[in-house]
Amino acid sequence: MFPFDYHRATTLEDAREAHAAAEEPAYLAGGQTLIPTLKMRLAQHDRIVDLRRIPGLTGIRRDGDTLVIGAMTTHQAIADSPEVIAALPALAAMAASIGDQQVRAMGTIGGALANNDPAADYPAAALALDAAIITDMRSHKAADFFGAFFDTTLDPGEIIREVRFPLAEAAAYAKIRNPASRYAVVGVFVARTAAGPRVAVTGAAGQVFRHEAMEQALAASFSPTSLDGVATSPDGMNEDQHASADYRAHLCGVLAGRAVTAIVGAGSR
Ligand SMILES: Cc1cc2nc3c(=O)[nH]c(=O)nc-3n(C[C@H](O)[C@H](O)[C@H](O)COP(=O)(O)OP(=O)(O)OC[C@H]3O[C@@H](n4cnc5c(N)ncnc54)[C@H](O)[C@@H]3O)c2cc1C
Repeated sequence: MFPFDYHRATTLEDAREAHAAAEEPAYLAGGQTLIPTLKMRLAQHDRIVDLRRIPGLTGIRRDGDTLVIGAMTTHQAIADSPEVIAALPALAAMAASIGDQQVRAMGTIGGALANNDPAADYPAAALALDAAIITDMRSHKAADFFGAFFDTTLDPGEIIREVRFPLAEAAAYAKIRNPASRYAVVGVFVARTAAGPRVAVTGAAGQVFRHEAMEQALAASFSPTSLDGVATSPDGMNEDQHASADYRAHLCGVLAGRAVTAIVGAGSR
């Protein structure tokens, strides 16, 4: 690690001020991405601002037809939450599929969204469910929030406070996971909403995206067979030792079919 100074923030304002006063600062949430990058000297920060002691950033609650999750809530807390299991079971199951026990115990939803790894799971859920990402400054629509390869619309120093998920009529997530990390080689989140079906794909390309051809096919008839004729182009898809672009394109159809089958089979949310 390169040397840095450490600031344990007690309020959002304190965190913002400590961040603004440094040259190359970083916020610390669960540390599941940040700490390994520091250890491997892939990142160099002069100040780490720890968000973990700021009150009010954890917790899960219902606000009418919206599920509200604090940014510092861990993946395990989301997976185990009776509120999430009752309101959006697909989100609880998705959280349970992340990494291993330590990653789930430490990693947070806010950190995962801010990090925007192109193979991360939450971006697919946030995009398919039309979530709002609320910071100390403003509200971001998930549709606008995610850029390519770790980029987001967060400004320097902006802090995610909570994520608001509108409830879907039904939803399911299917992924083929990397056997070592459990990140998505490809993951497809399908949500059946009052405004129509929404399909979001992660892991396949440099950026989470909505699959509009699948959405149109599912709007005509919400069944796995509706996806049979829907092609996914491999153009622009990731190629690496885990999967070729052609295979990733193929997996989009397979996984969307599995998610739709799970929804139709469950018959409800
Ligand atoms: C072995 C391993 C396996 C994993 N498997 C998966 C997987 O299967 N699926 C998956 O989706 N993810 C996976 N992850 C990622 C993990 O789930 C974490 O969510 C992710 O590492 C970031 O969350 P964190 O809370 O640890 O954030 P940190 O590592 O603390 O921070 C990450 C980045 O986000 C910024 N940040 C953190 N919180 C905020 C905030 N509230 N506001 C603004 N910026 C913030 C930090 O400054 C930093 O730049 C894996 C990680 C590891 C190490």
